[in-house]
Amino acid sequence: MQSVNPYTESIVEEYDEHDEEDVEAALSRAAETFEEWRATSLTERRGLLTDAADVLREREEKYAELMTEEMGKPITEARSEVQKCAWVCDYYAEHAAEHLQEKTVQGPEDAETYVRYDPLGPILAVMPWNFPLWQVFRFAAPHLTSGNVGLLKHASNVPGCAKAIEEVFRDAGYPEGVFQSLLVGSDLVEEIIEDDRVRAVTLTGSGPAGRSVAEQAGKNLKKSVLELGGSDPHIVLDDAPIAEAAETGARARTINSGQSCIAAKRFIVHDAVYDEFVDRFVSEMEALQMGDPKDEDTDVGPQAREDLMEELHEQVEDSVEMGAEVRLGGEPEDGEGYFYPPTVLTDVPRDSPAGCEELFGPVASVFRVESEAEAVELANDSQYGLGGSVWTTNLERGKGVAARVESGAVFVNELTKSDPRLPFGGVKDSGYGRELGVEGIHEFVNRKTVFVQ
Ligand code: NDP
Repeated sequence: MQSVNPYTESIVEEYDEHDEEDVEAALSRAAETFEEWRATSLTERRGLLTDAADVLREREEKYAELMTEEMGKPITEARSEVQKCAWVCDYYAEHAAEHLQEKTVQGPEDAETYVRYDPLGPILAVMPWNFPLWQVFRFAAPHLTSGNVGLLKHASNVPGCAKAIEEVFRDAGYPEGVFQSLLVGSDLVEEIIEDDRVRAVTLTGSGPAGRSVAEQAGKNLKKSVLELGGSDPHIVLDDAPIAEAAETGARARTINSGQSCIAAKRFIVHDAVYDEFVDRFVSEMEALQMGDPKDEDTDVGPQAREDLMEELHEQVEDSVEMGAEVRLGGEPEDGEGYFYPPTVLTDVPRDSPAGCEELFGPVASVFRVESEAEAVELANDSQYGLGGSVWTTNLERGKGVAARVESGAVFVNELTKSDPRLPFGGVKDSGYGRELGVEGIHEFVNRKTVFVQ
C-alpha cells in the first residue's frame, strides 16, 4: 500500500498490506478483547478517551503534517482537524455517562421497566481519505466508549493516517485489540462483514461503496450506518445578506480543497439578487490562494488523487458541453501536483453532471430561480440529502425553508458543519443512520428492555 503526496506526486511511504492471516488474527483479538473491554467501567473508558484527546493535542503538528503529505489538506485545516478530533473525544468523555444511562420507561404499574444500552461487539469502520482523522474519531470516540471494539479499514491512499490513529489509542493506554487498523483493500471487506465476530459496520464514502457494504450487511443481518455523498444546496433568497452568503459560500465550497461531503455544491440564487451574488461569489472564489498545502497562506491545495481530479474535470467538461457556462476556472493546472482551481459554473442544466451528480472538488454550480418555492423545489431535485444552507434576513422564513428541504441538516445563515454535540447524517442517497450527539452513540448499542416483576 502506498501513500502518494498529491503536491509533489512522489511516494511518501510504502506499507505492507495485511493478508488474510493477519485479518484473522485481528478478528480473534477483537473478539477476545471485547469480552474484557465490555466489562470495564464507563469511568475507565471515559478516562482513556480523555487521554486520547491529550495525545492528539500533544501531536497536533505531527498528525497535521501527515495528513497534508498523504492527501494534500492545507496545513491550517489539518491542524483544525486534529483539534476537532480531540474535541469529539472530550465531548464523549464528558457526556457518555448521560447518553448511556439506563432509562426508566413506564410499563405495567407493578413491574420495574427500563432500557439499558449494551455494546454490540467488534464494529467494522470503512473510512475515506478526505478527513482521514476526523471521520475515524467521529466513529471511534462514541463507539469505543460504549464498550464496543473497533476495526478500521481506512482508504488505501492514507495508510499512514490509519497507523497514526492506532498509535493514538495505543499510546493513550487502551488495551491492545480495542482499536485495530487493517491495512487491506476493499476486496476483503465482504468477508470481514460476513465474519460472525463482526457485529455491525459503518461506512463513509461514495454511493457505490455504500451500496456494496449495505448489501453485505443486509445479507448477514448486521446493523449498518452509511454516510455517503451529497450535493448540498446553498439557497440565497431575495432578502439574503449577500456579502456574507457569497463569502461563506466560497468557503463552504472550497473547504478541504472542495473535497467534503457537506460542501455547498449547488448555489440556488433568487433572480432579484442573482447578479450581485454571482459577482461577489466569483470574486471570493478568485481571491482564494491555491498552492503548497504546507504553506500557511494556502486556501486550496491539490486534489487528493490524480484519478479523482481527472474524474472531476470530466464532470465539468460534460456539463459545459451540455450548456453550462464557465465563469471561473474550469481547467486543471499544468505542472506538478493534482491542482484543480476554484471554478464557478452558471446556467447549469439540471440533468448535467454539475446539476445532478456530486462534484468532489472546488467546483460550484450556480442556478437562477424566480421564487422561494422554486428554490426549495430545485434543492430537493437531487438524489442526495445530506446538508444544506439557506440565506435570508428573515429567520422565520429561513426556518420555514429548513422544514421543507429534504436533508439530514439545514443551516440558516451558516455553512453546514459537523459538531460533536449535533447529530449528523443524511437521507435519500446520502445514507442512513446518524453519527455524533446522543443519536450517534445509540447507533451501535443494544437498546435492551429489562422487565422486572
Ligand atoms: P470510495 O467510496 O471508493 O472509498 C471510501 C472507502 O470505501 C475506502 O476505504 C475504500 O477503500 C472503501 N471502498 C471502496 N469500494 C468499496 C466496496 N465495494 N466495498 C467496501 N469498501 C469499499 O471513495 P473514493 O476514494 O474512490 O472517492 C470516490 C468518490 O466518492 C469521491 O469523488 C466522492 O464523490 C465520494 N466520496 C465521498 C466521501 C464522503 O465524505 N461522503 C468521502 C470520500 C469519497 P479503498 O480506498 O481501498 O478503495
